Amino acid sequence: MSSDEICPECNQEYTDTRYSWCKPCNSKRFKNDFNNWTSGNDRIDKFIQDAQLNANYGSDVLEWIPYNRFKDVKQIGKGGFGTIHYARWIDGYIEKWDIENQQWKRYDNRGVALKKFDNFVNFNDILNEMEIHFKTYSGSDVATSIRFYGITQDPETHSYMMRENGKMTKIWGVVVQSWDNSDTY
Ligand SMILES: [Zn+2]
Repeated sequence: MSSDEICPECNQEYTDTRYSWCKPCNSKRFKNDFNNWTSGNDRIDKFIQDAQLNANYGSDVLEWIPYNRFKDVKQIGKGGFGTIHYARWIDGYIEKWDIENQQWKRYDNRGVALKKFDNFVNFNDILNEMEIHFKTYSGSDVATSIRFYGITQDPETHSYMMRENGKMTKIWGVVVQSWDNSDTY
């Protein structure tokens, strides 16, 4: 076994050697960070946390992304559900853990699609769709699949009603996904 197949942190073989991904170490890392972010909504938090804990590669990871981490946001389309926007994600999505610099190595400044759903769309339905998509999604097959990066909130518009614990809560949600397949959702 060559040294680049071994996680230097736990000295076990990477759970995915192609992407230098150590699931136990990365799950622990995500978990330690749970207290540092919240969407303000328990179900969204849980959804994102589960994706992070169970990620087999960087492409399985979902994040709560503050809206100010996007720039050049412009509307480029309109559908039955709402609007599609192009944006550049300043930080970009996670590739792997950078041991030397003790931070995530990311593909920064990537173009992404922001799906902003109209008020009448139940955001629970959106999460259900994302859950189904995630169950059937293979991280190794990114070319033919929509890639979800996470959820953000537009602080100015796009509020959604979400039923939670029997009461209606107002939340904002925008789904962030790969640019290439932005019209297939
Ligand atoms: Zn490890």
